[in-house]
Formats: sequence, C-alpha cells, structure tokens
Amino acid sequence: MSLKIYDSVPDNFLETDVLGLHEKFPGPFLMHLKGEKSKPLFLSVLLHGNETTGFLSLKKVLSNYADKILPRDVIVLVGNTKAAAHGLRHLEGQPDYNRIWAGGESEEAKLISQVLEYVKGFELFANIDVHNNTGKNPYYGCVNVFKEEYLDLAKRFSPKTVYFTEPSEVESMAFAPLCPSVTIEAGLPGKEEGVLKVAQFIEEVLNLDSFNHNFDIKNAEVFQTYGRIKIHKDATVDFKNDNDSKADFSFVEDLELKNFESISEGTLLGFYRDRGLIKVLDNDGEAVTDDLLEFREGKIITKKEFVPAMFTQDVYIIKEDCLGYVMKSFSVT
Ligand SMILES: [Zn+2]
Repeated sequence: MSLKIYDSVPDNFLETDVLGLHEKFPGPFLMHLKGEKSKPLFLSVLLHGNETTGFLSLKKVLSNYADKILPRDVIVLVGNTKAAAHGLRHLEGQPDYNRIWAGGESEEAKLISQVLEYVKGFELFANIDVHNNTGKNPYYGCVNVFKEEYLDLAKRFSPKTVYFTEPSEVESMAFAPLCPSVTIEAGLPGKEEGVLKVAQFIEEVLNLDSFNHNFDIKNAEVFQTYGRIKIHKDATVDFKNDNDSKADFSFVEDLELKNFESISEGTLLGFYRDRGLIKVLDNDGEAVTDDLLEFREGKIITKKEFVPAMFTQDVYIIKEDCLGYVMKSFSVT
C-alpha cells in the first residue's frame, strides 16, 4: 500500500460515484490542490466507507471550482475506498480508518503515518474530518482541544459541539497539535440536506482569512463525553422495549431520538436478562456502570441525569463500537 498524491483533481473523479471509486482509485489517496491562499485546509472523507456525505459534499465544492481557482490550498484525503465499494464502515480484516492515527503496525496505519509526514511539511490552516452517524443525531462538531479557534471552527458547522479525548487514535486528534481541528458528524449518510450543509461549511472555511481568537469560550455550550455504554459482542439486542423479549437486551424504541437531549434520573432505558453483558466505561476504560445505571427487576434505569450522543439501533455498530456515548455539559473554570 503506497500513498498516491495527485496535484490536481484526477480525471473522472467528479463523475465517479462512491461505489465505483475503488475501481478507479484503489486505496486511500491525497489530492493537493492549489488555491489563492497558501495555508492549506486539510479535509478527510470516507475514513468510514459507508459515510458518504463528506465525499458527496467534496465533489460539490470541487465542481463549483471546476473553472476557477480555489480560495485556498486544499489537501484532501479520500480514505477507505475499498470499504466504500461495499458500503461498509471497514471490511473484515481491515482496521477502522479512524482508529489508526496514533501509529500502529498495520499497512493502513503506516500509510496514515505517511499522510501525517506529508502534511507536516506545510503550515495548515485547519482540519476537517467528515463523518456520518448511524443513529438519528443532530449535526454536531467534535473538538479534542478546548481553545477559541477550535470552537470557532466547530461552531461554524453547528451550535452543538462535543469535546472528547477518547478514543484518542482519531484523525482530529492527530491534527489538533497542527491547526484548529474538528470532526463533523453530518447526520445520516448521503442525505441531500447534510451534503449541502457540509459543502457550505467547507466553502465558508475555505474563504476565511483567520479564525476568531476572541471566541467566547466561557459561554460556549459544549458537551463532554465521559463514558460509553458497551454491550458484549455475544449479546442479543432488540429495541422492542419488551420485558418478555428473548433477547439479552430489549431497549426502548426511541433511544436514538434522545441524542443530545437530557435524560433525567430514573428513566427506563430497557430490559435486561444478563446484566453482566452491559457496562459503562469511562474515558480511561474503567467500569463506571453502577454510577450511571441501576438494574432492578429486569429493568435498566438511569441513576443520574446525562446527555446521550450517537445512540444507535444498528446492532453491528453497537457490537463494534458501543450503544452510545454519555455526555455532560462542559465548561471552562
Ligand atoms: Zn465515521
């Protein structure tokens, strides 16, 4: 696996759809495009092969500049084209492309090291990594550094911002020491509204001269993830909210609709058969299950108020990642 770097938009790229991408562009590749201002915006799309909004919005932006110069230099990473051809987050045997940015021995991790090596040769303006959610979520941005410019960047995409430091092997974390850096979550994959929203955001950042160094971080509403709810990979899960379900867990039907809304103490999340198959892990990987959840007569009940994010009904994602993230309001002191 070697890193291909194009210095212009390759022929056919704008006409290629996401499923046909891998056939023409096997493996991850960079495009380093020249614009009026020289500090490049770094943009990554398709780190997760089924999350198509970034790719679609990138094509929209590049089409707008087909016959005029970009406002500033852009370096684009098009990520897991192989998984994209199958409509999957990643293929069996492949690592998750958004968990290989802190190094590693896989050939994919080595390729990402080459990407980071390459970009370190430039003074970057900003970094944007575009993702989608599997569950229903509002648009939001995630930062890993609590600084004015980073929050300014995130808030230009959405007023909802999440601050997280775990998992730490993600793209936005690797760029955080280099420039204002954000992961944006653009709703469900490929939806036209999300594609337009992301394209507008990219255009806005491309046209910016600088970020707001005086951004009011004291009054910025930001959530911090402090845990995730893990379900054992052998557990069976449904969303029927049924005490008599044969599944190990039968969660309430509308769990994903609660994303970014406060869940109060004493709320029923669902029913369990084996409480050993669910745990809440904090950012250090320590179990804090009993701080958050109570298990009583088959019911899973919240023990304290929290704000959920990325709760999903996609059982594959639940097993691979988690049922959802647990957040609280975060403010500087
Ligand atoms: Zn993703």
